[in-house]
Amino acid sequence: MTEQETAEMRRHGESTIEEKKKDSGRKCPRCRGFMEFDPKEGKLRCLSCDYLEAVLARNEEETNAAEQDFIYAERIGNQDWGVEKKTVRCEKCGIEMIYDAADALEECLYCGSNQITEVQTELGLAPGGVCVFELDAKQAAERFETWIRKQRFCRKELKKAVRTKDFKGIYIPCWTFDTHTDTTYDAYYGINYPRKGVTVTEWGGCNGTYREFIDDQIVVGSTRHEQDMPNIIRSFRTEDNKTYRQEYLAGFAVERYSVELKDAWEKAKELISHRLQRHVRDKILAECHADEVKDLKMTTTYTRIQYKLLLLPVWVICFDVKGKLYRYIVNGQNGSVSGKSPISAAKVALTVAGVLAVLGILWLILNM
Ligand SMILES: [Zn+2]
Ligand SMILES: [Zn+2]
Repeated sequence: MTEQETAEMRRHGESTIEEKKKDSGRKCPRCRGFMEFDPKEGKLRCLSCDYLEAVLARNEEETNAAEQDFIYAERIGNQDWGVEKKTVRCEKCGIEMIYDAADALEECLYCGSNQITEVQTELGLAPGGVCVFELDAKQAAERFETWIRKQRFCRKELKKAVRTKDFKGIYIPCWTFDTHTDTTYDAYYGINYPRKGVTVTEWGGCNGTYREFIDDQIVVGSTRHEQDMPNIIRSFRTEDNKTYRQEYLAGFAVERYSVELKDAWEKAKELISHRLQRHVRDKILAECHADEVKDLKMTTTYTRIQYKLLLLPVWVICFDVKGKLYRYIVNGQNGSVSGKSPISAAKVALTVAGVLAVLGILWLILNM
């Protein structure tokens, strides 16, 4: 940036990038360089001189994210991210990404498009906890390479195209809910008897109550990951989270949640209800010494609902193969990989030809 540009920004009351960096607490105490969170060390690392600094002060203790009260979230939910942030939206895939105002984001981390524009939307609730990156980009690339090599029908050009620098780290938002549940139910239970060589079921009615405390029901805070995410999300150790600190995000973008808290709770109730149905069914089977349950009707009340907004770390890589976009996700905590491989037509044809040849030989042998 030229001196003239800096002076111009000052006149407009804007702080320069340098000043913003200073504000974000990411300035190296040794060389004044810029620091980023280093997954391998679990510390901030200076990009210029490699100086390492712990995220927590010496007398600070590491804690887990605290549960927040769901009922009052709208009124008193924390919106303070601790540092100036920017939001950009990708015009191609619609995703919104939040990152430190001091950083620059040139392309969409999910689709590689450079059609991204800054938007003035609310940042939304600040995260309560972070599952921090434990793998760096190099380790993510290694995991991905091992995985893609095992993909049978994968194009050669894709296997060759992996470059560490193409892996982009992003945090995915995820809601978790705790709640006490009280359920009343009625149903029919059936007991099977053998009679004259056939099984007959005798039905009886039953009703009762069931209580269960639900701990950490997870709902992904983004609607975009239905295809490539379910397995990845299940593979996170969400209990290994740390109370949110802006330093954990240094150098990484955050996807803004597109599922609002209220909608996430509706989804959570659905998931919890399925779980309760299974457990009530098991309870009836055990209590009535029954073999079957039918017409189960339940009414559940949820009390003392609490939530957390957690950030989950993933490494994303996108490939453009003949105009088609392929996206792969590497879990930043344990390295598991997810995504659909582009299929190589040549390899499929070869395999099909091979199978046909074997079938042909078998046919010949059987007909000799
Ligand atoms: Zn330094
Ligand atoms: Zn995009």
